[in-house]
Amino acid sequence: METFAEHYGAMCAAILKRMPGADIELIDRAVDYARRKHINQIRKDGSPYIIHPLAVAEIVTEMGLDTDAILGAVLHDCIEDTDASHDEIARLFGPTVAELVEGVTKLTRADFSSTEEAQMENLRKMFMAMSKDIRVVLIKIADRLHNMRTMQYQSPEKQVKKCRETMDIYAPLAHRLGMQKMKWELEDTSLRYLDPEGYEEIMNYLKAHHEQDEAFMSAIQDKITTRLAAVGIHNTTYGRIKHVYSIYRKMKTQGKSMDELYDVYAFRCVVDSIPDCYNVLGHIHDLFNLVPGRFKDYISTPKPNMYQSLHTTVIGTQGIPFEVQIRTWEMHETAEYGIAAHWKYKQGTGSGNEKDFEWVRRLLESQQTTDAEDYVHSLKIDMFDDEVFVFTPKGKIVSLPAGSTPIDFAYAIHSGVGNAMVGAKVNNRIVGIDTKLKNGDIIEVLTSKTAKGPSRDWLNICESNQARTKIKQWFKKEKREENVIHGRASFESEMKRVGLPLPITVDPEIGPQLLKKLSFASWEDMYAAIGYGGLTAAKAVGRIRDDINKALKVQQNEKLMNPLRMTPDSEAVKRNRHAVNGVVVEDIDSCMIKFAKCCTPVPGDGIVGFITKGYGVSVHRMDCPNAQNREEPHQAARWVRVHWAAQAEQPFDTTLELDCITRDGLLLDVATVMTTSHVRVKELNGKDLPGGKSVFTVRFEVKNVSELEAIRNKLLNIRDVIGARRGQN
Ligand code: MN
Repeated sequence: METFAEHYGAMCAAILKRMPGADIELIDRAVDYARRKHINQIRKDGSPYIIHPLAVAEIVTEMGLDTDAILGAVLHDCIEDTDASHDEIARLFGPTVAELVEGVTKLTRADFSSTEEAQMENLRKMFMAMSKDIRVVLIKIADRLHNMRTMQYQSPEKQVKKCRETMDIYAPLAHRLGMQKMKWELEDTSLRYLDPEGYEEIMNYLKAHHEQDEAFMSAIQDKITTRLAAVGIHNTTYGRIKHVYSIYRKMKTQGKSMDELYDVYAFRCVVDSIPDCYNVLGHIHDLFNLVPGRFKDYISTPKPNMYQSLHTTVIGTQGIPFEVQIRTWEMHETAEYGIAAHWKYKQGTGSGNEKDFEWVRRLLESQQTTDAEDYVHSLKIDMFDDEVFVFTPKGKIVSLPAGSTPIDFAYAIHSGVGNAMVGAKVNNRIVGIDTKLKNGDIIEVLTSKTAKGPSRDWLNICESNQARTKIKQWFKKEKREENVIHGRASFESEMKRVGLPLPITVDPEIGPQLLKKLSFASWEDMYAAIGYGGLTAAKAVGRIRDDINKALKVQQNEKLMNPLRMTPDSEAVKRNRHAVNGVVVEDIDSCMIKFAKCCTPVPGDGIVGFITKGYGVSVHRMDCPNAQNREEPHQAARWVRVHWAAQAEQPFDTTLELDCITRDGLLLDVATVMTTSHVRVKELNGKDLPGGKSVFTVRFEVKNVSELEAIRNKLLNIRDVIGARRGQN
């Protein structure tokens, strides 16, 4: 059990040592306030709760931040765990401190644990995005560090969860912020709970070799300090074993045992100036044999996290390699405390506003990993202007595009939630569903079983593609019939608008090509897509416009070049066509067909079609006098090739004109032949001509030209019938 006095004393000592200028009186008032607020709370080990904020304040002090940051650390759990409010803290300790505490509280409420690797980057980003003030991040890292130090009191499940989170979020952040010392401690402590055996193995090895290591390190240290003293370079030199997790990682990645690992030892020479650094380097290389290819000059080229030092690896007297890091005191401070050291340094120069963290952002943004080892723990932090991070009521993080609304949030949770949404609460207040979400907002979606589903307006309100896609999907599924009608109407009006003929889409040859170009299986599917907003009519038409124009041109050219070509078409073509009234019109499907009265063609006759103005295609016999002007330029394009359908389904009207020598009973004879031929007579007229001649007109129905011929022959066999011509009115 730890006591208030111990921790209060430790904090004060740290303040005296690291930050003698801090406002002790104000800090004391905050300690008093926090102590009263946490008075009824105890830690898992039975210690009073106040020791935790004091320990965090001590760590923050060691980082060398400022009075506000220390106050923030002392008060960091007050809003979360006690009845203290933001306003009260602001009144007593100033708005900045209240903001810091508020910021830490937000991070405390967020759940940064995730089993998904993919979420990790978001979590780290969010961590940074949520902390408008870098001091919030630093206090939170200090908070976590102290929690790690007291992890033994937690349940095994919580230990693993917290340590995983530390490895995934806090250690990489500490690394990126250049805080080596904290990073190492966070990693080593985490490892202890995540792989206790691996951790023990290394610790035991180090313990067993402790004396040997110490002897080796002091021998080397003596050798270096003796030389540097002889040449008059003021320095502090010491050896150390690299931290446990870095050894562990090397063993894992290189598949080696402790015995096989080299560069476990590291020495540091801290000197007063940069020229001294290079001088020391020369002496080290003079004293020991250099391991080639290991020298790195991070002074002229600092690491992305601001780290500066000279690194070299040499071989000691016993053939054991070790690394030497050479740096100035300022570089040393940066290596230990990272961004905190720089922050303090900048403050010391008195330049600029202390709340101006733009430079930190720029620094974080410009970070790029160059070092292979760094890459393992790489963490790209930018300030995420294009993303917003919000929470579910249970504290799960949801990353959305900046400008997102509760609609985006609902669909990010589940499409079922979005489709059943009737309203939303942000931070416990009912808001409009078009409210723009802010970092750290807690969103609750209000749903109803009787919800009507999304409205089309939502497509304009939402920001994320995910929401848009899911809303469209809903419309696609739920409203297909409606969509087809809407879609078809807009498609057809768009076709009309740009002057394209609609029948082209159902053309058996071009239609499928157009569908393929549009990536739809059927026209109905495409209409549905337009209807639910998956595709605009303009876009659809735009995509096929060129193809249609091309196809139209080809058709026209064919007609112009060979309007009379009447070679029989391939069976495939015939099969593919839809016959209307027993006639297939080439290149035009399902158009209106009528038979020219002048020549009454029947199946078997050579025929040709004429595109009329408004009455579809008029079918003439090829030998019809009215069909003899097909090559006239202004008409050529209107003559189309037509064929009889493979089998005629219906009878065709036709007319025969009989030239006769007038006699009584002839009409009866003609009528008898027609009746015995089992054809339906529609009209039978006789007309006397001058000179004892007469002409009979018979209009009747036949199936085809051979039936017609048979009847014609029978009629010619009648006495006094001297001719039988196909009718040509
Ligand atoms: Mn805490």
